[in-house]
Amino acid sequence: MDTERTRCLIVGSGPAGYTAAIYAARANLAPVLYEGMEPGGQLTTTTKIENFPGFPDGILGAELMEAMKKQAQQLGVDIRFGIATGVDFSSSPRKVTIDGRKIVETDAVIIATGAQAKYLGLESETLFKGQGVSACATCDGFFYRNQDVIVVGGGDSACEEATYLASICNKVYMVVRKDHLRASKAMQRRVMETPNIEIKFGYNTVQVLGDQNGVTGALVRHSGGEELVIDATGFFLAIGHTPNTAVFKGALELDAEGYIRTEPGTSRTSVPGVFAAGDVQDPHYRQAITAAGSGCMAALDCERYLLGL
Ligand code: NDP
Repeated sequence: MDTERTRCLIVGSGPAGYTAAIYAARANLAPVLYEGMEPGGQLTTTTKIENFPGFPDGILGAELMEAMKKQAQQLGVDIRFGIATGVDFSSSPRKVTIDGRKIVETDAVIIATGAQAKYLGLESETLFKGQGVSACATCDGFFYRNQDVIVVGGGDSACEEATYLASICNKVYMVVRKDHLRASKAMQRRVMETPNIEIKFGYNTVQVLGDQNGVTGALVRHSGGEELVIDATGFFLAIGHTPNTAVFKGALELDAEGYIRTEPGTSRTSVPGVFAAGDVQDPHYRQAITAAGSGCMAALDCERYLLGL
C-alpha cells in the first residue's frame, strides 16, 4: 500500500475541519485535509444560514462552505477527496488509511468527521427534505414564522427545538412515540408551560404530506391504531444524531452514544496527538459556529503538541 508522511492530517471538511485547516496552515503545519464522505459537511444540506456571524443578509450553507474551502486553499492547505477507512493510533507516527488504498503516517491528526441527523426513513420525508422537512430548527425555524409546525421526538433536543419554534411559530405539535417525554424534567416543564405547544403522545409518523409548494402536514398513527392528519408547513426531526466515528471504534475513547471523548475545555482525545473538533465530539451545541470554534481549538492544541515533540 502507498505510504505518505505528514505533520498534521485533518479528516473532515465541515466548519470544524476547515477552521482547523486555516489555523494549522497559518501556523506552518502544512496540513493535509481529506474531505470525507460529505464534502462541506451537514451545512451543504441546509438552505440559507442566518445565524453565522458576519453575514447580515444570510448565506447559503453550500456557499459558506465553498468560501471556507477557498480560504483554506489560498492559505496553502492540501485539500483532497478521500475517506478515512482505517486507523492505527497504537504507535507513533499515527496512521490513517485513506479509501483502503493508502496509508498516511502523521505526527498529529485532527478528526472533524461530524455527525448525521437521524431521519425516520420515510420516502415522503426524503421527498420534502429542504421543502419543509428539516433536522435543524435553529437553522430553518425562522422560515416558518407564524405558521404551524411539527417536531418529532421526545428528548431534550425535541423539547428545546419545540420551545424555540413556539417562540416564532403560531403552533407547534410534538409527535412523541411513547406516552412520556425522555427529556430532562426542566425541559419537560418548559414545554408544558408553553401554551402553543401541543404534544401528541403515542403517535408515529406514517407519511409526510405535501404538494408542489412543500410540506402541508403529516399523517400520524396512534399505537392504538387511530390515524390523524396534522396540518403544518414545517416538519422537524429531533430524534437524535449519529456521530461519524465507526472507523475510530477501539482506537479512541468514545462515549455511550459513540461521540469522541475529549478532555473538557480542550480538543485532546484519549490518544496523544489525536484531536477532535466539531459535531463528532459535541452532542449538545451542534452549531456551525461552535464547530468552527472547536476547529480553531484543535489546531491550537495540535500546534502546541507538535512544538513539544
Ligand atoms: P435523545 O436520544 O435523547 O432523544 C431522541 C428522541 O427521539 C427520543 O424521544 C426518542 O424516543 C425519539 N426517537 C428516536 N427514534 C425515533 C423514531 N424512529 N421515531 C420517533 N421517535 C424517535 O436525543 P436528543 O438529540 O434529544 O439528545 C441527545 C443528547 O443530548 C441527550 O443526552 C440530551 O440530554 C442532550 N441534549 C441536551 C440538551 C440540553 O441540556 N440543553 C439539549 C439537547 C440535547 P424514545 O424516547 O421513545 O426512545
